[in-house]
Amino acid sequence: MSATLLDGKAVAAEVTEALRARAAALPRPPGLAVVLVGDDPASAVYVRNKTRTAEKVGLAHWQITLPAHTAESDLLAEVRRLADDPQVDGILVQFPVPGHIDRLRVIDSIPPEKDVDGLHALNAGYLATKRDGFVPCTPLGCMELLKRSGVATRGAEAVVIGRSDLVGRPIARLLEHADCTVTACHSRTRDLAAHVARADIVVAAVGIPRMVKGGWVKPGAVVLDVGINKGADGKLVGDVDFEAARERAGFITPVPGGVGPMTIAMLMANTVKSAERRLAR
Ligand code: NDP
Repeated sequence: MSATLLDGKAVAAEVTEALRARAAALPRPPGLAVVLVGDDPASAVYVRNKTRTAEKVGLAHWQITLPAHTAESDLLAEVRRLADDPQVDGILVQFPVPGHIDRLRVIDSIPPEKDVDGLHALNAGYLATKRDGFVPCTPLGCMELLKRSGVATRGAEAVVIGRSDLVGRPIARLLEHADCTVTACHSRTRDLAAHVARADIVVAAVGIPRMVKGGWVKPGAVVLDVGINKGADGKLVGDVDFEAARERAGFITPVPGGVGPMTIAMLMANTVKSAERRLAR
């Protein structure tokens, strides 16, 4: 059996097309500000992809690039300026930030109603208590892909590998809200293979190339591979041994072209949602 590919690129194109119409219906374009500190090449690529998609959706967008030696207080002042700007509906600070800047202080400085990355403690709390806030983009994108697989989530065994505040933890919450029985695995988990083997849904968000072996995957399972890693040949590979896993899985996301494009589409969705809310006030 060869798994059906969950084509994130195609789904993201559909999602962004629908968002274009929503954005165009507003009295002013939704505004997204992306702040990049330093010159990390991977971050620069992510930011470029985000602004390119923002353009397609018809958002007003601003990229603020600050040098790596920027003082934390100057970054916080920049975030405050964006927080006060009525044209800005969403603020995203691209992580990682240089080591002398406290990531949590930056997250705390973003007003929760403009926190389109969903990292603020208030939004994390809203997610935990199943209230409507901003949910991090990658987990949202995973859920959208899961919906498209048509697989029933109620009562399904879901295994999430990774427990970061950006990916693993929020996706575990969303799966639980969708009535899955969720096992959250991490670096201290014993016998990861045994957990994966009984999962109807597997989400790998670790950052170790091909660490989830094809033979672990339960036949017919849905495999969502969040990992983005550079292989020895310079090509991108996921956290799942794709070629082997696709022989057993029912549905699987490729890397690249799976979860990645969905993350960007969901950032656009969160920004449009923020603009709609703010303009309705
Ligand atoms: P983090 O480094 O913040 O978290 C990694 C998690 O993996 C941790 O919870 C860690 O456990 C766990 N882990 C590490 N080693 C093992 C192991 N041997 N077995 C089981 N679990 C392990 O990473 P992120 O969550 O930010 O990102 C994960 C991956 O997803 C990365 O490859 C990243 O590039 C990618 N990514 C992709 C996105 C996309 O759009 N597709 C968006 C964001 C990230 P512990 O908590 O115990 O340390």
